[in-house]
Amino acid sequence: RKPIVAVVGRPNVGKSTLFNALAGQRISIVQDTPGITRDRIYADVTWLDKVFTLIDTGGIEPDSRDVILAQMRAQAEIAIETADVILFLVDVKQGLVDSDAKVADMLRRSRKPVVLVVNKVDSFEKYMTDVYEFYNLGIGDPHPISAVNRLGLGDMLEDVVSHF
Ligand code: GDP
Ligand code: MG
Repeated sequence: RKPIVAVVGRPNVGKSTLFNALAGQRISIVQDTPGITRDRIYADVTWLDKVFTLIDTGGIEPDSRDVILAQMRAQAEIAIETADVILFLVDVKQGLVDSDAKVADMLRRSRKPVVLVVNKVDSFEKYMTDVYEFYNLGIGDPHPISAVNRLGLGDMLEDVVSHF
């Protein structure tokens, strides 16, 4: 079977935008504010000679802080159960928040391969210093990307497929 890659992260970090960029079409719903999207969305992605199934675990995205954390835990559990590689997406503009750290702990304990991806790095010169803060999550090197501008996706994918 094809390897499964699941995208996990807080509401509004750009999971659906990244999913659509990799899927090559608009399948997942991108929202300006956290809200309701369809539950788990799948697409096959081909990169170089590799094919994998990508899952946007976004689902129904709440906006109260307690519910966000509960939802992130549920997403992470789905990813830990089903995925071969977990793509953990964080947002350089929001910075490192407590729920990121909690989910990172869950992912680290699962011993599944995790690729830490820092989105919204629209300019590498401007935002690179802010990316280093995410080393504190203790789950490896943060990969800077801009899903909107399609920056950094090749290096990110190289790390993802190295775990297959
Ligand atoms: P999700 O809730 O994690 O699925 O996030 P969405 O994909 O719905 O995106 C939330 C918001 O972030 C939308 O307004 C996107 O346009 C915006 N966004 C996503 N990726 C980027 C990026 O690389 N740079 C910037 N500046 N905004 C982004
Ligand atoms: Mg979404």
